[in-house]
Amino acid sequence: MLMSVSSTSSSRYALQVHRVIRESPSVATICFERPSGFRYSAGQYVTVFFDDTGVSEGKAYSLSSHPDDIDLSITVKKVGLFSGKLHTLKAGDVVEISPAYGMFNAFGTAPLVALAAGVGIAPIYSIICHEVFRGSNRPIRLIYTNTVDEEIVFQDELDRLTQYAPQLEIQYIVTRQEDSDYFGPRMQGAEIARAFPDRAVCICGTVEFVRDLRRQLTLAGISDDDIMTEVFFKTSGVAG
Ligand SMILES: Cc1cc2nc3c(=O)[nH]c(=O)nc-3n(C[C@H](O)[C@H](O)[C@H](O)COP(=O)(O)OP(=O)(O)OC[C@H]3O[C@@H](n4cnc5c(N)ncnc54)[C@H](O)[C@@H]3O)c2cc1C
Repeated sequence: MLMSVSSTSSSRYALQVHRVIRESPSVATICFERPSGFRYSAGQYVTVFFDDTGVSEGKAYSLSSHPDDIDLSITVKKVGLFSGKLHTLKAGDVVEISPAYGMFNAFGTAPLVALAAGVGIAPIYSIICHEVFRGSNRPIRLIYTNTVDEEIVFQDELDRLTQYAPQLEIQYIVTRQEDSDYFGPRMQGAEIARAFPDRAVCICGTVEFVRDLRRQLTLAGISDDDIMTEVFFKTSGVAG
């Protein structure tokens, strides 16, 4: 059998792409074989190195797979050169990744509120899958915002998870498509703080999304220590 995965040095793994799943018009999930001994926590990210891009330091991508998955995966929104190149990958291509880094998670038993915008769902999906598949009964409320229905990523998978896990509740919000079942205003931290007191909160999305929600939640009385954040990128417009 051909070895499709190898470690190029102690700090990089050369991984063969298994498959690429088109999740939405702008988002794709890239699945790799998991190298033996590759350990990570739900919510962590890897640096991806990809020669064709000229970005020698690579770019960070959260693992959307969860620690008990057989494969590794990242879920990428196509916005620029690097992410655009990642979207051209196909089964059999090879990229290099770093070990996993980061501390984005809210470990413990406190009920969890997860707030995601757009592709910010990637590490949150990993965290939710990990909680559900390890058999935790921790109540989880996911509030997930997108601009239009077709940009909702992992909706089928998330809805299926709620069948296994009655402690998981999901609210989708779509902000720019008036005929969507989920059409509604942007998330409001004050309302979330009122509805879910005594919760740990994980927030992931653009700088503006994370910054605004964090500020609203702390103003509404949630301790900063109970809020974990991961910031993907800066945009001049709406989160997602
Ligand atoms: C810890 C961490 C984890 C990350 N995880 C992920 C991940 O799981 N999935 C993922 O797709 N990205 C993730 N990112 C972002 C990723 O590292 C790149 O910054 C992103 O792919 C853009 O790189 P690029 O070279 O393609 O575009 P760039 O040339 O860097 O950006 C092109 C333009 O697009 C804008 N832009 C960037 N993102 C968006 C967006 N979502 N919507 C609208 N405009 C945008 C930029 O501000 C810029 O103006 C993560 C970043 C960090 C720091």
